[in-house]
Amino acid sequence: MTLHATTCPLDCPDACGMLVERDVSGGLVKLTGNPAHGYSGGHLCGKTALFKDVQESADRLHTPLLRESGKLVPATWDQALARIAQGLRGVPGDRILGLGYAGNMGQLARKYPTRVLNALGATRHDGGICDGEAACGFELVFGRAVGCDLEQLDGAPGLLIWGCDLVRTVQHSLPRVRALCRSGKPVVVVDVHRSDTVRRVEAWGGKAVIVHPGSDAALLLALAREAFATGAVDRAARAEDCAGLAEFEAQVQDAPTLEDAAGQCGITPETARELHALLAERRVWVKAGIGWTRRFQGANAMRALCSLVAVHGLEQSFHFESGGSFPSFTELIARPDLRPEGVPPRVVPHVAVGRSLDAGDYTVVFVWGHNPAVTLPDSLAVRRGLSRDDCLVVVHDLFLTETAELADVVLPAASFLEQADLYTSYGHRYMQAAQRILESPGEACGNVETFRRIARALELPAEVWSADAEQLFEEVRAQASEVISADDRTRFLAGEPVKLAADPGVDRKTNSGRIELASAEAARRGGPLVPTWNAADPPREEGRFQLHCAPTKHTHNSTYLHSARHLARVGDSRCTLHPDDAVELGVVDGGVVRLSNARSALTLGVRISADVSRGMVRVDGLFRSIDTPEGLGLNTLTVSDPGDLGLGNSYYSTRVDVARSDARSDSTDPR
Ligand code: SF4
Repeated sequence: MTLHATTCPLDCPDACGMLVERDVSGGLVKLTGNPAHGYSGGHLCGKTALFKDVQESADRLHTPLLRESGKLVPATWDQALARIAQGLRGVPGDRILGLGYAGNMGQLARKYPTRVLNALGATRHDGGICDGEAACGFELVFGRAVGCDLEQLDGAPGLLIWGCDLVRTVQHSLPRVRALCRSGKPVVVVDVHRSDTVRRVEAWGGKAVIVHPGSDAALLLALAREAFATGAVDRAARAEDCAGLAEFEAQVQDAPTLEDAAGQCGITPETARELHALLAERRVWVKAGIGWTRRFQGANAMRALCSLVAVHGLEQSFHFESGGSFPSFTELIARPDLRPEGVPPRVVPHVAVGRSLDAGDYTVVFVWGHNPAVTLPDSLAVRRGLSRDDCLVVVHDLFLTETAELADVVLPAASFLEQADLYTSYGHRYMQAAQRILESPGEACGNVETFRRIARALELPAEVWSADAEQLFEEVRAQASEVISADDRTRFLAGEPVKLAADPGVDRKTNSGRIELASAEAARRGGPLVPTWNAADPPREEGRFQLHCAPTKHTHNSTYLHSARHLARVGDSRCTLHPDDAVELGVVDGGVVRLSNARSALTLGVRISADVSRGMVRVDGLFRSIDTPEGLGLNTLTVSDPGDLGLGNSYYSTRVDVARSDARSDSTDPR
């Protein structure tokens, strides 16, 4: 038996350290947490602890597939590459779309394909599906997302968690949150539903504040108004650090009073005052999530939270993400300098890719680390676009995903265990260079080697493809080691996780080099100079219920939709309604409802619970289209209009109607 260290590659801020046990014949025995990884502390989540099911699945692709007479049939790599070369002949760069994303967060796996797309002068997307709105709002106020060190959380004076279900998304911070609660420090969770985290924190002695969906920003601005009104803002000190303090103070005079905002949010004035005291007197740390900003006004909502934190002078103990702590490897790996001269990249909003695919904007689309037919909003438009006869779709994946089913060329991908890569994180500060651990099945091939083959088949310049995966790994590792202390470098080069030196929580890499409560950049993009909130969100959607798409702790986006054990843990009762709404609709627990709007309609099993607010229907996790009678996935319902400033995801602004359905429920919900 041998043990090999690596990092979980999923799109998850915890980026856990992992140990892979291999038997004498090189086969996988099991995956466990790596105790040497200080943040994740030797624990993997339940879903990734079962990754062996994915790694050894009989459904993994072993050979390329080509569409012939409407069907995907096995082919050789040479045949697949010839089809790609033929499809690309004479196609201008702006009609080629690179549609990669975060299925494997390794730097090489994610970015090397972009090098080939750059050499082709291809169109790219802005990656706004996840944190586009939140990151935009944060960066406008504070600069790059660095974030305080969550490993120090248990030493905080208390914690305010704003719109973050830690249990499902940042679970390795939970032991530190529990330690805070147990030591009698205040911990308060603000959310729009009684999430797993709410219930967990309450059980530990903390408190929850449940607000109406989309009302957060009103409360944040009212809290800022209260901070100025009660003398909690040290104006002289803050004016030195913050550009636009006076403009922000003037603007929040028009915000609701704390009492009015409490009414709008559905909480008591006393609770609102407690939130104010938490910041002004207890000086707690603040942990912000991503999902709560996925609304039309999401970036402004995040600006409101950042501005509130800033006027209290709490920015060094604020955490949203940590990706800005790490060097960028984009120049080295993706090589934007290889773009044809005078061809700047055409960039399209990720969330609206379906519309441009559907409109026939592309002749060739490359997909890697992504399952857009399932994960992008308005997914029927995505599917129509990928199904067009005049568009060659090339998909590189481990499985015949719902996107791959629509492709013309499917290339079998290597898993993260089958390719060397460098891993960073967007939650903590550990970095790890992990070697290849397992052999790939059949003809499956890693991201670098696959796109090198494509580059050679297209006769692109040798500069694009001459370095192989091993050489590139050495180059990336060498660049990464430059930011690692001499003490840690040996361990890093030996493949162990190492922590980067602590940075301040915010780096003020804004245009002015200061914290920007008033942002000329926001105004230049058509937004307000200082954050505001329009109660009319969402202005464009109709439907009585807000659709709340929540993650599950058993699956991860669409990664585990090919694993029976993961799916069985999720169960069939996918959506949740408030008991009073259920009575009005005549729906019973374990029954079936139909969710509909102008884009789609689909039938789901339902559970009834006061965990969700009235007027909300919560759906947990993505599911397979074959799991609904209509053969449709969740994102057929969701809105694809980009948000206000970040052009990111606004799918929590989606509205639907809900009605009882007489379809049969096969619910086996294990929760
Ligand atoms: S999905 Fe997240 S929590 Fe689970 S093992 Fe991977 S990084 Fe850790």
